[in-house]
Amino acid sequence: MSNSQMFSVLVCLLSITVLGTVRGSAQVRTQGDVTRTTIDDKIRRFVPVEISGDLTGLSINDRRALSKLVEATKLVDSIFLRQVWSGNSQVHCTLEANDSPWGADIRHYFNINMGPWSKLDRDEPFIGGVPALKPPGANFYPEGMTKEEFDSWQRELPEQERSQATGFFTVIRRDNDGNLFARPYSEEYREFLEPAAQLLKEAAVLTENPGLKTFLFLRADAFLTNDYYQSDVAWMHLNSPIEPTIGPYETYMDELFGNKAAFEAFITIRDEEESGKLEKFSSHLQEIENNLPIDPRYLNSSLGKLSPICVVDEIAIGGEARAGVQTAAFNLPNDERVVREHGSKRILLKNVQEAKFRQILIPVAFSAIDPDQAALVNFEPFFTHILAHELMHGLGPNTINVGGRQTTVRQEMKELGSALEEAKADVSGLFALQFLIDKGVVEKSLERQMYVTYLASMFRSVRFGTNEAHGLGTALQFNYLTQEGGFAYDDETQRFSVNFDTIRTGVSKLTRKIMTIQAEGDYNKAKELLGTYGVVKPEMQAILDRLSDIPVDIEPLFAPVE
Ligand code: ZN
Repeated sequence: MSNSQMFSVLVCLLSITVLGTVRGSAQVRTQGDVTRTTIDDKIRRFVPVEISGDLTGLSINDRRALSKLVEATKLVDSIFLRQVWSGNSQVHCTLEANDSPWGADIRHYFNINMGPWSKLDRDEPFIGGVPALKPPGANFYPEGMTKEEFDSWQRELPEQERSQATGFFTVIRRDNDGNLFARPYSEEYREFLEPAAQLLKEAAVLTENPGLKTFLFLRADAFLTNDYYQSDVAWMHLNSPIEPTIGPYETYMDELFGNKAAFEAFITIRDEEESGKLEKFSSHLQEIENNLPIDPRYLNSSLGKLSPICVVDEIAIGGEARAGVQTAAFNLPNDERVVREHGSKRILLKNVQEAKFRQILIPVAFSAIDPDQAALVNFEPFFTHILAHELMHGLGPNTINVGGRQTTVRQEMKELGSALEEAKADVSGLFALQFLIDKGVVEKSLERQMYVTYLASMFRSVRFGTNEAHGLGTALQFNYLTQEGGFAYDDETQRFSVNFDTIRTGVSKLTRKIMTIQAEGDYNKAKELLGTYGVVKPEMQAILDRLSDIPVDIEPLFAPVE
Protein backbone atom coordinates (compact mmCIF):
# COMPACT_ATOMS: atom_id res chain seq x y z
CA MET A 1 0.00 0.00 0.00
CA SER A 2 1.43 3.40 -0.95
CA ASN A 3 1.51 6.34 1.43
CA SER A 4 -1.41 8.05 -0.23
CA GLN A 5 -3.55 4.89 -0.22
CA MET A 6 -2.82 4.46 3.46
CA PHE A 7 -3.70 8.11 3.89
CA SER A 8 -7.10 7.80 2.23
CA VAL A 9 -7.96 4.74 4.35
CA LEU A 10 -7.08 6.77 7.42
CA VAL A 11 -9.22 9.67 6.27
CA CYS A 12 -12.14 7.28 5.75
CA LEU A 13 -11.75 5.72 9.20
CA LEU A 14 -11.42 9.13 10.76
CA SER A 15 -14.53 10.58 9.20
CA ILE A 16 -16.61 7.53 10.09
CA THR A 17 -15.59 7.63 13.75
CA VAL A 18 -16.00 11.37 14.08
CA LEU A 19 -19.38 11.61 12.43
CA GLY A 20 -20.78 8.19 13.34
CA THR A 21 -23.33 7.76 10.61
CA VAL A 22 -23.37 9.02 7.10
CA ARG A 23 -25.05 12.36 6.62
CA GLY A 24 -28.62 11.94 5.46
CA SER A 25 -28.25 8.26 6.45
CA ALA A 26 -27.08 7.24 2.97
CA GLN A 27 -27.02 3.46 3.02
CA VAL A 28 -25.87 1.24 0.24
CA ARG A 29 -29.26 1.18 -1.36
CA THR A 30 -30.33 2.80 -4.55
CA GLN A 31 -32.62 5.65 -5.28
CA GLY A 32 -36.23 5.24 -6.48
CA ASP A 33 -36.58 2.69 -9.26
CA VAL A 34 -32.86 2.15 -9.78
CA THR A 35 -32.34 -1.61 -9.60
CA ARG A 36 -29.24 -3.71 -9.94
CA THR A 37 -29.96 -4.23 -13.64
CA THR A 38 -30.34 -0.54 -14.30
CA ILE A 39 -27.08 0.17 -12.47
CA ASP A 40 -25.44 -2.41 -14.72
CA ASP A 41 -26.98 -0.73 -17.76
CA LYS A 42 -25.71 2.63 -16.57
CA ILE A 43 -22.20 1.25 -16.07
CA ARG A 44 -22.23 -0.45 -19.47
CA ARG A 45 -22.41 2.93 -21.19
CA PHE A 46 -18.73 3.33 -20.23
CA VAL A 47 -16.57 0.67 -21.84
CA PRO A 48 -13.46 -0.16 -19.77
CA VAL A 49 -10.21 0.37 -21.69
CA GLU A 50 -6.61 0.15 -20.62
CA ILE A 51 -4.91 3.51 -21.07
CA SER A 52 -1.13 3.61 -21.13
CA GLY A 53 1.82 5.35 -22.71
CA ASP A 54 5.30 4.42 -23.85
CA LEU A 55 7.63 5.23 -20.95
CA THR A 56 10.79 3.87 -22.59
CA GLY A 57 11.92 7.35 -23.63
CA LEU A 58 12.01 8.56 -20.01
CA SER A 59 15.20 8.58 -17.95
CA ILE A 60 15.19 6.48 -14.77
CA ASN A 61 14.87 9.60 -12.63
CA ASP A 62 12.03 10.98 -14.73
CA ARG A 63 10.24 7.69 -14.37
CA ARG A 64 10.60 7.90 -10.59
CA ALA A 65 9.37 11.51 -10.73
CA LEU A 66 6.40 10.33 -12.78
CA SER A 67 5.42 7.78 -10.15
CA LYS A 68 5.47 10.51 -7.46
CA LEU A 69 3.10 12.56 -9.59
CA VAL A 70 0.83 9.57 -10.14
CA GLU A 71 0.70 9.16 -6.36
CA ALA A 72 -0.29 12.81 -5.96
CA THR A 73 -3.38 12.25 -8.13
CA LYS A 74 -4.92 10.17 -5.29
CA LEU A 75 -4.81 13.22 -3.04
CA VAL A 76 -6.43 15.27 -5.80
CA ASP A 77 -9.22 12.65 -5.82
CA SER A 78 -9.78 13.17 -2.09
CA ILE A 79 -10.01 16.95 -2.47
CA PHE A 80 -12.38 16.72 -5.40
CA LEU A 81 -14.67 14.22 -3.62
CA ARG A 82 -14.99 16.74 -0.83
CA GLN A 83 -15.63 19.61 -3.26
CA VAL A 84 -18.63 17.92 -4.90
CA TRP A 85 -20.86 17.92 -1.83
CA SER A 86 -20.38 18.11 1.94
CA GLY A 87 -21.57 14.51 2.42
CA ASN A 88 -19.68 13.07 -0.54
CA SER A 89 -16.49 11.82 1.12
CA GLN A 90 -18.60 9.95 3.68
CA VAL A 91 -20.79 8.24 1.11
CA HIS A 92 -17.55 7.27 -0.63
CA CYS A 93 -16.14 5.78 2.58
CA THR A 94 -19.37 3.85 3.28
CA LEU A 95 -19.27 2.40 -0.21
CA GLU A 96 -15.59 1.48 0.14
CA ALA A 97 -16.45 -0.48 3.30
CA ASN A 98 -19.34 -2.42 1.71
CA ASP A 99 -18.11 -5.66 0.15
CA SER A 100 -21.37 -7.15 -1.16
CA PRO A 101 -21.53 -7.59 -4.98
CA TRP A 102 -24.42 -5.12 -5.08
CA GLY A 103 -22.30 -2.65 -3.12
CA ALA A 104 -19.45 -3.18 -5.56
CA ASP A 105 -21.68 -2.18 -8.49
CA ILE A 106 -22.81 1.01 -6.81
CA ARG A 107 -19.25 1.80 -5.77
CA HIS A 108 -18.16 1.25 -9.36
CA TYR A 109 -20.76 3.69 -10.66
CA PHE A 110 -20.03 6.17 -7.86
CA ASN A 111 -16.36 6.11 -8.89
CA ILE A 112 -17.27 6.74 -12.54
CA ASN A 113 -19.28 9.81 -11.49
CA MET A 114 -17.14 10.76 -8.46
CA GLY A 115 -20.41 11.28 -6.62
CA PRO A 116 -23.94 9.88 -6.15
CA TRP A 117 -25.45 11.74 -9.14
CA SER A 118 -25.44 10.21 -12.60
CA LYS A 119 -23.87 12.64 -15.04
CA LEU A 120 -25.33 11.02 -18.15
CA ASP A 121 -28.84 11.13 -16.64
CA ARG A 122 -29.17 14.83 -15.93
CA ASP A 123 -27.54 14.34 -12.51
CA GLU A 124 -30.26 12.05 -11.14
CA PRO A 125 -29.20 10.46 -7.84
CA PHE A 126 -28.62 6.68 -7.91
CA ILE A 127 -28.03 6.25 -4.17
CA GLY A 128 -30.71 6.68 -1.50
CA GLY A 129 -30.43 9.29 1.24
CA VAL A 130 -28.52 11.88 -0.80
CA PRO A 131 -30.08 15.20 -1.92
CA ALA A 132 -32.42 14.71 -4.90
CA LEU A 133 -30.76 17.68 -6.58
CA LYS A 134 -27.01 17.97 -6.87
CA PRO A 135 -26.16 21.14 -4.90
CA PRO A 136 -25.60 23.92 -7.49
CA GLY A 137 -22.97 25.57 -5.29
CA ALA A 138 -21.28 22.17 -4.70
CA ASN A 139 -19.37 22.28 -1.41
CA PHE A 140 -17.89 25.67 -2.28
CA TYR A 141 -20.59 27.56 -0.38
CA PRO A 142 -22.57 26.84 2.80
CA GLU A 143 -25.67 24.74 2.19
CA GLY A 144 -28.75 26.88 1.79
CA MET A 145 -26.84 30.09 0.95
CA THR A 146 -28.65 32.02 -1.79
CA LYS A 147 -27.03 33.99 -4.60
CA GLU A 148 -28.59 37.16 -3.19
CA GLU A 149 -27.08 36.59 0.25
CA PHE A 150 -23.64 36.07 -1.26
CA ASP A 151 -23.93 39.13 -3.48
CA SER A 152 -25.10 41.50 -0.81
CA TRP A 153 -22.25 40.25 1.44
CA GLN A 154 -19.44 40.48 -1.12
CA ARG A 155 -20.55 43.92 -2.38
CA GLU A 156 -19.84 45.42 1.05
CA LEU A 157 -16.34 43.96 1.31
CA PRO A 158 -13.16 45.98 0.81
CA GLU A 159 -11.60 45.44 -2.65
CA GLN A 160 -9.04 42.82 -1.67
CA GLU A 161 -11.42 40.73 0.42
CA ARG A 162 -14.00 40.91 -2.32
CA SER A 163 -11.58 39.53 -4.87
CA GLN A 164 -10.84 36.68 -2.45
CA ALA A 165 -14.54 35.99 -1.95
CA THR A 166 -15.26 35.86 -5.67
CA GLY A 167 -11.89 34.30 -6.59
CA PHE A 168 -11.04 30.83 -7.88
CA PHE A 169 -9.26 29.48 -4.81
CA THR A 170 -11.44 30.04 -1.73
CA VAL A 171 -14.48 28.32 -0.25
CA ILE A 172 -17.20 30.32 1.49
CA ARG A 173 -18.14 29.23 5.00
CA ARG A 174 -20.19 30.55 7.95
CA ASP A 175 -18.68 31.52 11.28
CA ASN A 176 -20.37 30.74 14.62
CA ASP A 177 -22.62 33.77 14.27
CA GLY A 178 -23.76 32.67 10.83
CA ASN A 179 -21.73 35.31 8.96
CA LEU A 180 -20.09 34.39 5.68
CA PHE A 181 -16.32 34.36 5.29
CA ALA A 182 -13.84 33.16 2.66
CA ARG A 183 -11.32 30.45 3.51
CA PRO A 184 -8.38 29.77 1.16
CA TYR A 185 -8.05 26.31 -0.39
CA SER A 186 -4.60 26.10 1.24
CA GLU A 187 -6.37 25.97 4.63
CA GLU A 188 -9.55 24.15 3.66
CA TYR A 189 -7.70 21.25 2.02
CA ARG A 190 -4.42 21.45 3.97
CA GLU A 191 -4.53 17.78 5.04
CA PHE A 192 -4.34 16.79 1.36
CA LEU A 193 -2.35 19.69 -0.07
CA GLU A 194 0.60 19.31 2.31
CA PRO A 195 1.35 15.71 1.31
CA ALA A 196 0.63 16.59 -2.34
CA ALA A 197 3.13 19.46 -2.20
CA GLN A 198 5.66 17.06 -0.67
CA LEU A 199 5.23 14.60 -3.56
CA LEU A 200 5.60 17.40 -6.12
CA LYS A 201 8.82 18.55 -4.45
CA GLU A 202 10.19 14.99 -4.43
CA ALA A 203 9.38 14.71 -8.13
CA ALA A 204 11.05 18.11 -8.71
CA VAL A 205 14.23 16.91 -7.04
CA LEU A 206 14.25 13.75 -9.17
CA THR A 207 13.70 15.19 -12.64
CA GLU A 208 16.59 16.62 -14.65
CA ASN A 209 14.35 18.81 -16.79
CA PRO A 210 14.81 22.41 -15.57
CA GLY A 211 11.38 23.63 -16.72
CA LEU A 212 9.62 20.74 -15.01
CA LYS A 213 11.66 21.27 -11.84
CA THR A 214 10.62 24.92 -11.78
CA PHE A 215 6.95 24.19 -12.38
CA LEU A 216 6.77 21.47 -9.71
CA PHE A 217 8.50 23.54 -7.02
CA LEU A 218 6.26 26.52 -7.81
CA ARG A 219 3.08 24.42 -7.88
CA ALA A 220 4.04 22.83 -4.54
CA ASP A 221 4.42 26.37 -3.13
CA ALA A 222 1.06 27.35 -4.60
CA PHE A 223 -0.64 24.46 -2.78
CA LEU A 224 0.64 25.93 0.50
CA THR A 225 0.43 29.70 -0.19
CA ASN A 226 -2.74 29.67 -2.35
CA ASP A 227 -1.05 31.89 -4.95
CA TYR A 228 -1.11 30.01 -8.28
CA TYR A 229 0.07 32.78 -10.62
CA GLN A 230 3.81 31.97 -10.91
CA SER A 231 3.18 28.25 -11.29
CA ASP A 232 0.59 28.84 -14.04
CA VAL A 233 3.18 30.93 -15.90
CA ALA A 234 5.77 28.17 -15.45
CA TRP A 235 3.25 25.64 -16.80
CA MET A 236 2.80 27.76 -19.93
CA HIS A 237 6.55 27.65 -20.60
CA LEU A 238 7.02 23.97 -19.78
CA ASN A 239 9.02 21.97 -22.32
CA SER A 240 9.45 18.56 -20.84
CA PRO A 241 8.90 14.85 -21.61
CA ILE A 242 6.55 14.75 -18.59
CA GLU A 243 3.67 17.18 -18.92
CA PRO A 244 1.72 17.36 -15.64
CA THR A 245 -1.42 19.42 -15.08
CA ILE A 246 -2.38 19.35 -11.42
CA GLY A 247 -4.31 21.79 -9.28
CA PRO A 248 -7.59 23.71 -9.10
CA TYR A 249 -8.74 24.54 -12.65
CA GLU A 250 -12.24 24.39 -14.12
CA THR A 251 -15.17 26.29 -12.60
CA TYR A 252 -18.14 24.41 -14.14
CA MET A 253 -19.06 22.74 -10.87
CA ASP A 254 -19.80 26.13 -9.28
CA GLU A 255 -23.21 26.47 -10.90
CA LEU A 256 -24.07 29.46 -8.73
CA PHE A 257 -21.36 31.83 -9.94
CA GLY A 258 -18.81 29.88 -12.00
CA ASN A 259 -16.09 31.24 -9.69
CA LYS A 260 -14.67 28.32 -7.74
CA ALA A 261 -12.13 25.95 -9.25
CA ALA A 262 -12.40 22.17 -8.88
CA PHE A 263 -9.23 20.14 -8.35
CA GLU A 264 -8.06 17.84 -11.11
CA ALA A 265 -4.94 16.21 -12.45
CA PHE A 266 -3.74 14.96 -15.82
CA ILE A 267 -0.31 13.33 -15.55
CA THR A 268 0.87 12.86 -19.11
CA ILE A 269 3.96 12.27 -21.22
CA ARG A 270 4.69 14.00 -24.50
CA ASP A 271 4.08 12.11 -27.73
CA GLU A 272 7.22 12.88 -29.75
CA GLU A 273 5.96 11.56 -33.07
CA GLU A 274 2.78 13.65 -33.12
CA SER A 275 4.62 16.68 -31.78
CA GLY A 276 6.90 16.38 -34.81
CA LYS A 277 3.92 16.23 -37.15
CA LEU A 278 2.48 19.30 -35.50
CA GLU A 279 5.75 21.15 -36.04
CA LYS A 280 5.76 20.18 -39.70
CA PHE A 281 2.21 21.51 -40.21
CA SER A 282 2.98 24.67 -38.27
CA SER A 283 5.68 25.63 -40.74
CA HIS A 284 3.02 25.76 -43.49
CA LEU A 285 0.40 27.81 -41.69
CA GLN A 286 1.06 31.17 -43.37
CA GLU A 287 0.96 29.46 -46.74
CA ILE A 288 -2.39 27.85 -45.86
CA GLU A 289 -3.76 31.22 -44.71
CA ASN A 290 -2.62 32.85 -47.97
CA ASN A 291 -4.48 30.17 -49.93
CA LEU A 292 -7.76 30.13 -48.01
CA PRO A 293 -10.75 30.19 -50.39
CA ILE A 294 -11.93 33.66 -49.29
CA ASP A 295 -11.72 37.22 -50.62
CA PRO A 296 -8.01 38.23 -50.38
CA ARG A 297 -8.89 41.34 -48.38
CA TYR A 298 -9.94 39.08 -45.49
CA LEU A 299 -6.62 37.24 -45.37
CA ASN A 300 -4.17 37.83 -42.58
CA SER A 301 -0.82 38.62 -44.23
CA SER A 302 1.16 37.95 -41.08
CA LEU A 303 -0.09 35.40 -38.59
CA GLY A 304 0.94 36.22 -35.07
CA LYS A 305 2.37 33.72 -32.65
CA LEU A 306 -0.13 30.90 -32.23
CA SER A 307 -0.98 29.32 -28.89
CA PRO A 308 1.13 26.28 -28.10
CA ILE A 309 -0.38 22.83 -28.69
CA CYS A 310 0.95 19.71 -26.96
CA VAL A 311 0.20 16.13 -27.95
CA VAL A 312 0.51 13.81 -24.97
CA ASP A 313 -0.46 10.38 -23.67
CA GLU A 314 -2.34 10.17 -20.40
CA ILE A 315 -0.66 8.13 -17.64
CA ALA A 316 -2.92 8.97 -14.67
CA ILE A 317 -5.74 11.35 -13.80
CA GLY A 318 -7.31 12.65 -10.63
CA GLY A 319 -10.25 14.61 -9.31
CA GLU A 320 -12.67 16.18 -11.75
CA ALA A 321 -10.83 14.59 -14.70
CA ARG A 322 -12.22 11.23 -13.53
CA ALA A 323 -15.84 12.30 -13.34
CA GLY A 324 -18.12 11.16 -16.18
CA VAL A 325 -17.22 11.59 -19.85
CA GLN A 326 -13.45 11.58 -20.31
CA THR A 327 -11.65 14.71 -21.44
CA ALA A 328 -9.84 14.21 -24.76
CA ALA A 329 -8.42 17.75 -25.03
CA PHE A 330 -8.27 20.83 -22.86
CA ASN A 331 -7.17 24.44 -22.85
CA LEU A 332 -5.65 26.03 -19.75
CA PRO A 333 -5.08 28.05 -17.62
CA ASN A 334 -8.31 29.91 -16.98
CA ASP A 335 -6.79 32.76 -15.01
CA GLU A 336 -7.32 35.75 -17.32
CA ARG A 337 -4.22 37.54 -16.06
CA VAL A 338 -2.00 34.62 -17.10
CA VAL A 339 -3.82 34.27 -20.42
CA ARG A 340 -3.45 37.99 -21.18
CA GLU A 341 0.26 37.99 -20.45
CA HIS A 342 1.33 34.50 -21.56
CA GLY A 343 -1.50 33.02 -23.62
CA SER A 344 -2.97 29.58 -23.03
CA LYS A 345 -1.92 26.07 -23.94
CA ARG A 346 -3.92 23.34 -25.67
CA ILE A 347 -3.29 19.75 -24.58
CA LEU A 348 -4.46 16.88 -26.80
CA LEU A 349 -4.67 13.49 -25.08
CA LYS A 350 -3.81 11.14 -27.92
CA ASN A 351 -4.22 7.77 -26.18
CA VAL A 352 -7.64 8.85 -24.88
CA GLN A 353 -8.65 9.94 -28.38
CA GLU A 354 -7.48 6.60 -29.72
CA ALA A 355 -9.41 4.60 -27.11
CA LYS A 356 -12.59 6.52 -27.92
CA PHE A 357 -11.92 6.05 -31.62
CA ARG A 358 -11.60 2.25 -31.34
CA GLN A 359 -14.42 1.69 -28.86
CA ILE A 360 -16.98 4.15 -30.21
CA LEU A 361 -16.15 5.52 -33.63
CA ILE A 362 -15.41 2.16 -35.27
CA PRO A 363 -18.80 0.66 -34.27
CA VAL A 364 -20.49 3.93 -35.29
CA ALA A 365 -18.80 3.68 -38.69
CA PHE A 366 -20.15 0.19 -39.25
CA SER A 367 -23.67 1.45 -38.58
CA ALA A 368 -23.41 4.67 -40.56
CA ILE A 369 -21.00 4.19 -43.46
CA ASP A 370 -21.51 2.25 -46.65
CA PRO A 371 -19.78 -1.17 -46.31
CA ASP A 372 -17.60 -0.39 -49.37
CA GLN A 373 -16.05 2.55 -47.55
CA ALA A 374 -16.17 1.55 -43.87
CA ALA A 375 -12.67 0.05 -44.01
CA LEU A 376 -11.26 3.50 -44.86
CA VAL A 377 -12.08 4.72 -41.34
CA ASN A 378 -8.73 4.91 -39.54
CA PHE A 379 -7.17 6.48 -36.48
CA GLU A 380 -4.28 8.21 -38.26
CA PRO A 381 -6.46 10.44 -40.46
CA PHE A 382 -8.81 10.94 -37.49
CA PHE A 383 -6.05 12.29 -35.26
CA THR A 384 -4.36 14.23 -38.08
CA HIS A 385 -7.67 16.01 -38.64
CA ILE A 386 -7.88 16.86 -34.94
CA LEU A 387 -4.42 18.48 -35.22
CA ALA A 388 -5.58 20.41 -38.29
CA HIS A 389 -8.79 21.46 -36.50
CA GLU A 390 -6.80 22.89 -33.57
CA LEU A 391 -4.38 24.74 -35.85
CA MET A 392 -7.20 26.20 -37.95
CA HIS A 393 -8.68 27.90 -34.89
CA GLY A 394 -5.68 30.24 -35.25
CA LEU A 395 -6.29 30.97 -38.95
CA GLY A 396 -9.03 32.88 -40.77
CA PRO A 397 -10.81 36.03 -39.56
CA ASN A 398 -10.38 37.00 -35.93
CA THR A 399 -10.01 40.77 -35.41
CA ILE A 400 -12.38 42.31 -37.94
CA ASN A 401 -13.71 45.65 -39.15
CA VAL A 402 -17.47 46.14 -39.27
CA GLY A 403 -18.66 49.51 -40.66
CA GLY A 404 -15.40 51.19 -39.65
CA ARG A 405 -15.54 49.71 -36.15
CA GLN A 406 -12.74 47.44 -34.91
CA THR A 407 -14.19 44.34 -33.28
CA THR A 408 -13.77 40.56 -33.10
CA VAL A 409 -15.60 37.63 -34.69
CA ARG A 410 -16.41 36.34 -31.21
CA GLN A 411 -18.10 39.60 -30.21
CA GLU A 412 -20.17 39.90 -33.37
CA MET A 413 -21.30 36.25 -33.50
CA LYS A 414 -22.52 36.27 -29.89
CA GLU A 415 -24.17 32.96 -28.83
CA LEU A 416 -23.67 31.48 -32.34
CA GLY A 417 -19.92 32.03 -32.15
CA SER A 418 -18.77 28.66 -30.83
CA ALA A 419 -20.90 26.51 -33.16
CA LEU A 420 -19.70 28.49 -36.17
CA GLU A 421 -16.08 28.52 -35.03
CA GLU A 422 -16.08 24.75 -34.39
CA ALA A 423 -17.61 24.14 -37.84
CA LYS A 424 -14.99 26.44 -39.34
CA ALA A 425 -12.12 24.58 -37.66
CA ASP A 426 -13.52 21.22 -38.83
CA VAL A 427 -14.22 22.06 -42.45
CA SER A 428 -11.19 24.29 -42.99
CA GLY A 429 -9.14 21.54 -41.30
CA LEU A 430 -10.16 19.27 -44.20
CA PHE A 431 -9.35 22.09 -46.62
CA ALA A 432 -5.88 22.54 -45.08
CA LEU A 433 -5.08 18.81 -45.14
CA GLN A 434 -6.16 18.58 -48.77
CA PHE A 435 -3.86 21.54 -49.48
CA LEU A 436 -0.95 19.75 -47.75
CA ILE A 437 -1.75 16.48 -49.55
CA ASP A 438 -1.67 18.32 -52.91
CA LYS A 439 1.71 19.79 -51.97
CA GLY A 440 3.07 16.36 -50.95
CA VAL A 441 3.56 17.37 -47.30
CA VAL A 442 0.93 14.84 -46.14
CA GLU A 443 0.80 11.38 -47.76
CA LYS A 444 -1.72 10.95 -50.55
CA SER A 445 -2.87 7.67 -48.97
CA LEU A 446 -4.61 9.68 -46.28
CA GLU A 447 -6.86 11.55 -48.73
CA ARG A 448 -9.83 9.18 -49.04
CA GLN A 449 -9.45 7.90 -45.49
CA MET A 450 -9.64 11.44 -44.18
CA TYR A 451 -13.00 12.22 -45.78
CA VAL A 452 -14.64 8.92 -44.85
CA THR A 453 -13.27 8.99 -41.30
CA TYR A 454 -14.60 12.51 -40.98
CA LEU A 455 -18.04 11.49 -42.22
CA ALA A 456 -18.15 8.69 -39.62
CA SER A 457 -17.06 11.03 -36.83
CA MET A 458 -19.97 13.37 -37.64
CA PHE A 459 -22.46 10.77 -36.40
CA ARG A 460 -20.59 10.57 -33.13
CA SER A 461 -20.68 14.36 -32.75
CA VAL A 462 -24.42 14.78 -33.32
CA ARG A 463 -25.31 11.65 -31.38
CA PHE A 464 -26.15 13.66 -28.26
CA GLY A 465 -28.01 16.46 -29.94
CA THR A 466 -27.48 19.80 -31.59
CA ASN A 467 -28.04 21.90 -28.46
CA GLU A 468 -24.30 22.05 -27.90
CA ALA A 469 -21.77 23.88 -30.10
CA HIS A 470 -19.98 20.83 -31.55
CA GLY A 471 -23.20 18.98 -32.37
CA LEU A 472 -24.79 22.02 -33.99
CA GLY A 473 -21.66 22.90 -35.97
CA THR A 474 -21.44 19.30 -37.20
CA ALA A 475 -25.10 19.16 -38.32
CA LEU A 476 -24.46 22.34 -40.31
CA GLN A 477 -21.51 20.76 -42.12
CA PHE A 478 -23.24 17.45 -42.67
CA ASN A 479 -26.33 18.96 -44.31
CA TYR A 480 -24.42 21.55 -46.32
CA LEU A 481 -21.93 19.01 -47.69
CA THR A 482 -24.73 16.53 -48.42
CA GLN A 483 -26.59 19.22 -50.36
CA GLU A 484 -23.41 19.96 -52.32
CA GLY A 485 -23.20 16.28 -53.26
CA GLY A 486 -20.16 15.50 -51.08
CA PHE A 487 -22.05 12.81 -49.15
CA ALA A 488 -24.65 10.45 -50.59
CA TYR A 489 -27.29 8.31 -48.92
CA ASP A 490 -27.99 4.80 -50.18
CA ASP A 491 -31.62 3.77 -49.60
CA GLU A 492 -30.75 0.11 -49.85
CA THR A 493 -27.93 -0.07 -47.29
CA GLN A 494 -29.41 2.90 -45.36
CA ARG A 495 -25.91 4.21 -45.01
CA PHE A 496 -23.91 7.22 -46.19
CA SER A 497 -20.79 7.37 -48.31
CA VAL A 498 -18.38 10.04 -49.55
CA ASN A 499 -18.47 11.16 -53.17
CA PHE A 500 -14.75 11.69 -53.84
CA ASP A 501 -15.45 13.69 -57.03
CA THR A 502 -17.39 16.44 -55.30
CA ILE A 503 -16.35 16.53 -51.64
CA ARG A 504 -13.36 18.87 -52.24
CA THR A 505 -15.49 21.55 -53.88
CA GLY A 506 -18.08 21.30 -51.10
CA VAL A 507 -15.39 21.69 -48.44
CA SER A 508 -13.96 24.80 -50.20
CA LYS A 509 -17.39 26.36 -50.60
CA LEU A 510 -18.38 25.85 -46.99
CA THR A 511 -15.01 27.13 -45.74
CA ARG A 512 -15.57 30.24 -47.84
CA LYS A 513 -19.14 30.66 -46.63
CA ILE A 514 -18.35 30.42 -42.90
CA MET A 515 -15.17 32.50 -43.02
CA THR A 516 -16.89 35.23 -45.05
CA ILE A 517 -19.70 35.49 -42.50
CA GLN A 518 -17.05 35.71 -39.78
CA ALA A 519 -14.99 38.32 -41.68
CA GLU A 520 -18.07 40.49 -42.21
CA GLY A 521 -19.27 39.95 -38.63
CA ASP A 522 -22.71 39.22 -40.09
CA TYR A 523 -24.75 37.81 -37.21
CA ASN A 524 -27.97 37.54 -39.26
CA LYS A 525 -26.32 35.45 -41.96
CA ALA A 526 -24.84 33.19 -39.29
CA LYS A 527 -28.27 32.73 -37.79
CA GLU A 528 -29.76 31.92 -41.18
CA LEU A 529 -27.00 29.43 -42.02
CA LEU A 530 -27.29 27.57 -38.71
CA GLY A 531 -31.11 27.73 -38.85
CA THR A 532 -31.19 26.17 -42.31
CA TYR A 533 -28.50 23.52 -41.92
CA GLY A 534 -28.09 22.96 -38.17
CA VAL A 535 -30.81 20.32 -37.98
CA VAL A 536 -31.01 16.52 -37.85
CA LYS A 537 -32.83 15.18 -40.92
CA PRO A 538 -34.67 11.81 -41.02
CA GLU A 539 -31.90 9.79 -42.75
CA MET A 540 -29.40 10.88 -40.16
CA GLN A 541 -31.86 10.35 -37.31
CA ALA A 542 -32.55 6.77 -38.47
CA ILE A 543 -28.82 6.05 -38.23
CA LEU A 544 -28.52 7.75 -34.83
CA ASP A 545 -31.37 5.53 -33.57
CA ARG A 546 -29.32 2.48 -34.53
CA LEU A 547 -26.40 3.60 -32.34
CA SER A 548 -28.13 3.17 -28.97
CA ASP A 549 -26.15 0.03 -28.03
CA ILE A 550 -22.77 1.58 -28.72
CA PRO A 551 -21.04 2.82 -25.55
CA VAL A 552 -21.23 6.52 -24.78
CA ASP A 553 -17.71 6.79 -23.46
CA ILE A 554 -14.75 4.92 -22.03
CA GLU A 555 -13.82 4.08 -18.46
CA PRO A 556 -10.03 4.42 -18.39
CA LEU A 557 -8.03 1.75 -16.55
CA PHE A 558 -4.47 2.91 -15.97
CA ALA A 559 -1.45 0.64 -15.85
CA PRO A 560 0.59 1.23 -12.65
CA VAL A 561 3.82 3.20 -13.05
CA GLU A 562 6.68 1.45 -11.26
ZN1 ZN B 1 -12.31 23.33 -31.66
